Formats: sequence, structure tokens, C-alpha cells
Amino acid sequence: MTALFDNIMAGGPIGNGAYIGGQWVPLQGTMLPIVNPATEEVIGEIASGSSADVGRAIAAARAAFPAFSALPASERAAYLDRIRALVLERSEEFAQAISREMGAAISYARNAQVPLAAEHLRVARDLLADYPFLSMKGTTAIAREAIGVCGLITPWNWPLYQITAKVAPAIAAGCAIVLKPSELAPLSALLFAQAVHDAGLPAGVFNLVNGTGPEVGEAMASHPDVDMVSITGSNRAGILVAQAAAPTIKRVTQELGGKSPNVLLPDADLAKAVPLGVMAAFRNVGQSCSAPTRMVVPRAHLAEVERLAAETAQSILVGDPREEKTMLGPLANRAQFDRVQEMIGAGIAEGAKLLCGGPGRPNGLEHGFFARPTIFSDVATSMRIAQEEIFGPVLCILPYDSVDEAVAIANDTLYGLGGHVQGRDVELARSVARRIRTGQVHINHPAWDPDAPFGGYKRSGNGREYGEHGLGEFLEIKSILGYG
Ligand code: NAD
Repeated sequence: MTALFDNIMAGGPIGNGAYIGGQWVPLQGTMLPIVNPATEEVIGEIASGSSADVGRAIAAARAAFPAFSALPASERAAYLDRIRALVLERSEEFAQAISREMGAAISYARNAQVPLAAEHLRVARDLLADYPFLSMKGTTAIAREAIGVCGLITPWNWPLYQITAKVAPAIAAGCAIVLKPSELAPLSALLFAQAVHDAGLPAGVFNLVNGTGPEVGEAMASHPDVDMVSITGSNRAGILVAQAAAPTIKRVTQELGGKSPNVLLPDADLAKAVPLGVMAAFRNVGQSCSAPTRMVVPRAHLAEVERLAAETAQSILVGDPREEKTMLGPLANRAQFDRVQEMIGAGIAEGAKLLCGGPGRPNGLEHGFFARPTIFSDVATSMRIAQEEIFGPVLCILPYDSVDEAVAIANDTLYGLGGHVQGRDVELARSVARRIRTGQVHINHPAWDPDAPFGGYKRSGNGREYGEHGLGEFLEIKSILGYG
């Protein structure tokens, strides 16, 4: 166990507020409480940074950038390899921290939140084996060079995973980093910074400043010495970051909200597709930006789908995230709990058919931000529950009469992040997948692919993360004519 983890588990103030220039630096700012959503108790505090702290971190990154970007790719790969090894070695610490800071069931934290996060480090390392940082087109050389100092802003829902999805390709590219994790779930980020430190990454290449979006996040986005800002979060924050970044013409990538459709084609194997679809929607208590929260189903099979969906939801064990058998813990924070309650109320008020779940907490859970897995059927695309991201365990079932109508429903959203198609006729499934306007579509629940580019069409964002495309976001392209 690391001393930092012991400190975190003991609660109380975590004095080491920021990691700047290779050192832990105590911050003077306001203390922000960290609340365990399962108990509603304050389990620690972090000191929040100021724009002056952000300035110091950016200066450290700027100073580290020239040497780090000039390293051979194999050396950057070796750093990524060491960080990954430490994350895996300390995976139980990370899982415990994530479970406490945002409520993930401990088995989910162990089996998904941490190992999937480590995959981004592996993928970035592996890409460096033969990435074409310099290629020729005739006599012109095309060089791909690190963009510079990157401000990375991450959310609380997959706290470690969202960090590695940005930090790993940034390191692979040769960038220097200032990270601002979510102020609501900063514990795993602190452990990550410790792992980076212990991996021996040169001082200043990676820096972390805790704090709020309006203070630390906007200071990063607007700073003239930051070359790129990448945010994963709400559309509201994504817009503010882009606005703050605009005067300095920096690159902005945004991974924002979603309202992803799951189209069940008329020949889908319902006995498989419906339970898998429900579980995918409720994974991480529905707090995933690409959760397939709109199940689009043939009207002729509506009754069968409703029966299977309700059965699945009722089999989900919601409870204490520390228990191994718990499938879903609480929602991550009070704001999220209130939002989910409000949207369940909106669904009922709009006349959607409540199949299971509903307002309030599950039986037997009087404290904590626990919500009931809720399914609405007969949902119309005009309803708020069909249009707004809920970010909780709430699934909408929308019936259709023709495949064209199913595609129209799937695309009837401002978002364009994820999509799913289920069907036995592979050709039909492929053609529908190609008509869905989202950055990623899954056919018949394939295995997760950390190399598959991930990102949004429409208002779900700009840019792509993961794999080679994710690395590309951190690179500038230079053509050198007459090189060859
Ligand atoms: P949020 O927007 O409240 O916060 C995300 C991050 O942005 C936090 O670090 C926060 O402090 C920061 N932030 C907030 N206001 C800011 C500002 N004015 N300037 C700079 N930074 C600011 O989002 P959240 O509640 O933490 O996360 C949930 C949202 O994230 C959902 O909308 C979800 O869909 C989205 N999300 C998207 C993806 C994706 O890959 N597309 C993945 C996960 C979550």
C-alpha cells in the first residue's frame, strides 16, 4: 500500500493538493469535501488550486516539453509501460478509491474501471512500436510532432479511465500535461499522479492541479501557454471550455454527452438482445456517456421486449458498493441523484409507461444516492426522457413500425456518441449501423475494443479518443517539402 492511499483511506484533509514539476505541493485554496455517495458522509477533503497554481503547473510543463518531445519513442513507451505496471500492481488501491469517491460497486471497480483504464496505457505504449512520426509522400516528408502543453479536464463517472484515455496518448505523443480531474472524484487521480511519479517520468511532464471547473479548468483553457485543451464532461462545460480557449486559438477536443440508441431489428434474438441491452444501459449505474439509453424496438414485439426488460431490471442487485455481490452502487453524487429523480418524474408526467422502478430509493436503502433501475416504455421521441441525457439507471423503450422509422428515431437526437444494432441478418444490421449518425456503433454486443476510435458526431463533441486516432489528436502535422 502506498502512503498516499493510507492517507486517503484515513480521511481528513489530503494536504498534497497538487503535483507540479515532479513534486507534491500543498495548496492554499479552499478545502473541497469528498463525499462517499453510498453513505453521504464526507470522507476527505482536497485543497483546490487557483489560477496562480495553474500558471505554475503550465510553466513546469512548458519547461519539460522540449526535452520530453525529443526523446525517442521507445523511451516514452518505456515510461508508459512502467506507469501501467504500477497501476496494475496497485489496482486494489485504485478500485477502493474509485468505489469510495464515486460509488462504483467494488467488483465493477475491480473488473472494469481499473483494468479498462490500464488498457489505454497499453494501447498507447504499443502504438509507439511503429508509429509513423515521419513518413514520405514523394519528396515531401510528413512529420507528426507533439502539439505541446496540454490541459486535460476529466469527469467523475469513469475517473481513472478518462484520465488514462487522455494522459496515455499525450505522453505517447511527447506532450507535457496539466491534468484537472473532477473535484468530485479526485482520489484515484491523486493515486495516478503518485504512480506517474514512481514510474520516474521526468519532472514537469505530468502535473496535476485539483480544483473546480470555473477556477482551475477555465484558467487552463484560457492560458496562452497551453496548446491544446481536452475535456470530457457535460455539454455545458464543453462549451465554456471552447469559449475560454477561443481567443488563444488552441486546439480543443470535447467528449461530451450522449443519448445513444440501441436498435433491435425485427429479427433480433430478443432473449439475448434485451437483457444485454438493459445491462449495457445500466452499467456503471447508467453513468456512461455512451450508455444505450434508448432501446428502439419493433412494435410487433413490444410486449415481449417489455417483459424481458422488466425481468432483467428486477434481477439487478442495487446496494452497498463494498459488497462483492452488489451489481450497482449509488449514483455518484447528490446533484446526479436529484437529476435522476427529476427525470423519472418528468417521464411519468409526460405519460410514458413505467414498467419498473420509479421515484425514490430501492427498498431497504434509506441513505445514500441510490436510485431504482427504471424502465419506461411507449416513449415518444418528443419526450424529455427521450431527448435529455439522464446519466442514471433509466432506460427508454421506443417502438417503431419500419426499419426506416427505427433509423429516424435513432438519429432524432442532438447527440451522436454511441449506437447499437441487434439483428440476425448481418447485412441489414451493417446497413443500419452505417445509417446511424454516431461516432461508434456496436453490432450484436461485441467485445470492447480499446483501439476503436471513440468520440461524438453532432453535439457529443469534437475529436476522437483511443488508439491511433486518439494519439493523432495530440500531434501537429508538419510537411517538409524537398526533404527526400
Ligand atoms: P462536468 O461537465 O460537470 O465536469 C467535467 C469536468 O469539467 C470536471 O473536471 C469539471 O470540474 C470541469 N468543468 C466544469 N465546468 C468547467 C468550466 N467552466 N471550465 C472548465 N472545466 C470545467 O461533467 P461531469 O458531471 O463530471 O460528467 C458527466 C458528463 O460527462 C456527462 O454529460 C457525460 O455524458 C459526459 N461524459 C462524456 C464522455 C465522453 O467520452 N463523451 C465520457 C464520460 C462522461
